[in-house]
Amino acid sequence: MPLTIQKVGQFAVPCLKPIKLESGFALGTITNGIKTVWGIRSALASSRWQSDKLHVHQFRLLSSLLNHCYNRVPFYKRHFDQHRFHPVDFRSLADLVHIPILEKHHLQNSPPTDFLASGIDPAGCRKIATSGSSGNPLSILLHENGRRSHRIAAWRILFENGFRWTDQTLEIRMTSGPVYSAQRFGLAPKSWLSLKDTPANWVQVMLSSRPEVLVAGASTLRALAEVSPTLPSPPRLIISDSETLYPADRALISERLGSEPIDVFGLVEVSNFAWECRHHKGFHTSSDSHLVELLNNEIVVTHLDQTDMPILRYRTGDAAEWSNSGHCPCGRTLPLLSRVDGRTLDSVELPSGRTLFWPFFHEILAQFPQLRQWCIIQSTNRSLRLQLATDPTTAANIAQSLADQLPEPLEISTETLAVFPTHTGKKFRAVLREVNQQ
Ligand SMILES: [Zn+2]
Repeated sequence: MPLTIQKVGQFAVPCLKPIKLESGFALGTITNGIKTVWGIRSALASSRWQSDKLHVHQFRLLSSLLNHCYNRVPFYKRHFDQHRFHPVDFRSLADLVHIPILEKHHLQNSPPTDFLASGIDPAGCRKIATSGSSGNPLSILLHENGRRSHRIAAWRILFENGFRWTDQTLEIRMTSGPVYSAQRFGLAPKSWLSLKDTPANWVQVMLSSRPEVLVAGASTLRALAEVSPTLPSPPRLIISDSETLYPADRALISERLGSEPIDVFGLVEVSNFAWECRHHKGFHTSSDSHLVELLNNEIVVTHLDQTDMPILRYRTGDAAEWSNSGHCPCGRTLPLLSRVDGRTLDSVELPSGRTLFWPFFHEILAQFPQLRQWCIIQSTNRSLRLQLATDPTTAANIAQSLADQLPEPLEISTETLAVFPTHTGKKFRAVLREVNQQ
């Protein structure tokens, strides 16, 4: 059945188009499609591998990638030589620590072509850029193999959560994404809504198109949930990505949109690689395709399948913790993160240098049901500014409660807002460190 959606705002693009085979299109597209489907199937199977098998797989891929980088990627040849590392030094996964770290400034200060493997034509690459919301934007170049590995990494997470090829997906973003080969053949039909539209427009489309799958950032889902009536046909699968999914928003989205969102974590540089399953016991890491390390709680990631523009031991600036139990009732054996705290800048730094992430504040502020929304801003080393959507009395009580429970004293000021301003396309951060960013 073709998906038809009325244009109600900035754009609403029906993606289930009649199949039209162009000359020269069919063979490459079919081959690419087969490789994508095979990649997804392989990924789903490896979710339940025993750790020995996973480690052998990781070592094999990483050994090959190191040789590839040293011999074919100009940046890594210099980078390895500067740090006196050679791929022959990598004899087991224990040698991982000897591989030089890739910092964001390396990507920002070198032209993207410096990271491209020899033989990859920049003209045939798709350029994707980070938002730069927490620093300078940077660009990644992906040729066909790179685009496919990103696609497999993202779609694998959908299938891990019960996605079907016939599901209609609605995604809300600033700009619409590419139309994949499968979609040109009528599989995984997808339509896009613009962030520039109003939440009321989104609701109208939700009611008319009844998508089985809804994908958006956490603050977008919250804005949708706030104005949505009870949906007669709620989405079976809701994916929340790009931003921290705070517990209050998770509860609101679950109640109004009829399904608990699946929180997904990833980066533009390496695609998505940490995700919840239906049990919501933490984040499974896609360790068959992404080697995840935590260095002082900071996520360092290697994309094992990205050879066009390899990303090796990339320091992400995002904090996380491994799960103590390491097990999820779903039976998947992939290493489990108990939580992803988000960016270091999404935290408060105490005078001693200790860092407090948003869960600390959530646990205290969740005790005030009159509080509709909040944002905590650290503008100086010694003070916090609380923006609170509540009445003045509750705001004063919150400030006192925080002052009592902060491990170290900070000056606290409050500002009450009836409604939080929304900034189209800008990520919402409940905890924001503005000091030391200049
Ligand atoms: Zn699970």
